[in-house]
Amino acid sequence: MPPSSFPTRQLYYDGKLWPASSGKTFESIDPSNATPLAEIQVAAHADIDAAIAAADRAFSSWSQTPPIARARILQKAVALLRERNDEIARVETLDSGKAFTETSTVDVVTGADTLEYYANLVGGGGLNGETTQLREDAWVYTKKAPLGVCAAIGAWNYPIQIALWKSAPCLAAGNTLVYKPSEFTPLHAQTLAEIYREAGLPAGVFNVVYGAGDVGAYLTAHPTIAKVSFTGQVTTGMKVAGSAAGNMKYVTMELGGKSPLIILPDAELDNAVDGAMMANFYSTGQVCTNGTRVFVPASMKAAFEQRLLEKMQYIRPGPLFDDATNFGPLSSAIHAEKVASYIRHGIETDKATLLFGGLGKPSVPKELEAGFWVRPTVFTNCTDDMKIVKEEIFGPVMSILSYETVEEAVERANTTELGLAAGVFTKNLNLAHRIIDQLQAGITWINTWGESPADMAVGGWKNSGVGVENGRRGIEAWVKNKSTLVDTNGAIATVFAKL
Ligand code: NDP
Repeated sequence: MPPSSFPTRQLYYDGKLWPASSGKTFESIDPSNATPLAEIQVAAHADIDAAIAAADRAFSSWSQTPPIARARILQKAVALLRERNDEIARVETLDSGKAFTETSTVDVVTGADTLEYYANLVGGGGLNGETTQLREDAWVYTKKAPLGVCAAIGAWNYPIQIALWKSAPCLAAGNTLVYKPSEFTPLHAQTLAEIYREAGLPAGVFNVVYGAGDVGAYLTAHPTIAKVSFTGQVTTGMKVAGSAAGNMKYVTMELGGKSPLIILPDAELDNAVDGAMMANFYSTGQVCTNGTRVFVPASMKAAFEQRLLEKMQYIRPGPLFDDATNFGPLSSAIHAEKVASYIRHGIETDKATLLFGGLGKPSVPKELEAGFWVRPTVFTNCTDDMKIVKEEIFGPVMSILSYETVEEAVERANTTELGLAAGVFTKNLNLAHRIIDQLQAGITWINTWGESPADMAVGGWKNSGVGVENGRRGIEAWVKNKSTLVDTNGAIATVFAKL
């Protein structure tokens, strides 16, 4: 698809496109070959104010639309997303650098599933409150009220999926939204806005502004915004949560991880290797929940590494629309440089043993050589104090750590300020449950890694986040509770009666 296929992206609010008043633009770049894809207009403060005002105007009517009627509109959007799956996936591949084999089977699919899940949930009474009879003549009833105008700020690794994971429960619950995609992957946002409009979403309910961190910061601090749902790095999340807390805004923070994957001595070797590879190289390692600290029993290390080396040959970088390609470039030049600097640090300073990969680009066709490629890399003989083991790299870099006892592995797995995900591979399910119970993470897997369906609530512990997305619990993040006590006795039990 040539660059000219993408017209300049304008802002989207009040149900239509608007030119940004800043006069500034930035470029979206195809990471596989470093060529520009589209010009994106940057929102000025006045534009963000206008988008928020549109969302505010739309709130009263949308929040009072019966949940079943909201659900019908969202279900139409689900159908449109599925109908246009490949078309949207093609744009995601160009914008994010992820192979089409991934974007066409996961990104739009899991986003649409979540929208369907929340449409069904609220259409089926999922926003109903509770009634409690206190006495014969007194009841308490509760109501789940929408929060108001919300802001969603996305990362670049799963662009349309993040947009849907946030907008689905937000809109289903009766809120309106102003969404800012990452400046590295902005192209999906207009498509999603158009799909929502075509499905019948009223003007102002879903709005899009573009720009970098300062646009996100302005949104986060805006007095009309009731809630901020953020996906990104821990350091940015701390700033965003701090700014939101100052105005008593609700927040959901989906942040980074450095997740442990523990292989027990009885684990089936091929499964363990496949799991570890999926947990490190899927999406070129740009997955928040990646299991980048792979704990392997000392007794199994040689066999694990040998099998891993055999299977590393199955990682196939190449043209992103080729059916065989399962490994793309990193999403931007700046991120590729960051990941390369971690690999350099692992070799030169941490002095871990480089088992596979390393610096430089993998072999790709000539026309892709300018892209932001890095080699899938495995370090072994790693220790817990190494920078590559402690910090989130967010790229295709696996660290193998060997251990002697399960207690030791669990303790070391928990020695981190992050707590996004964790997992264990073993045939002993009783032991697996005991270990999972001890692991300090919000998302855990047994004998699998990475699947995150719409009905599974996901969110990090410790510095990896606040709150959850998806599942029944996910809707709670977009509503506030009102409790009402009704007394039908007719006489007030007053202490101010005449003596
Ligand atoms: P960043 O924190 O750099 O950016 C995230 C978003 O925040 C972007 O849209 C960015 O804008 C915006 N932003 C930057 N500064 C501010 C600010 N001061 N106020 C408000 N918004 C701001 O993260 P990345 O885009 O690099 O994403 C990768 C990170 O996301 C990784 O750490 C990964 O683990 C995490 N992640 C977590 C997930 C989870 O569910 N837990 C899922 C996916 C990713 P811009 O980039 O346009 O400048």
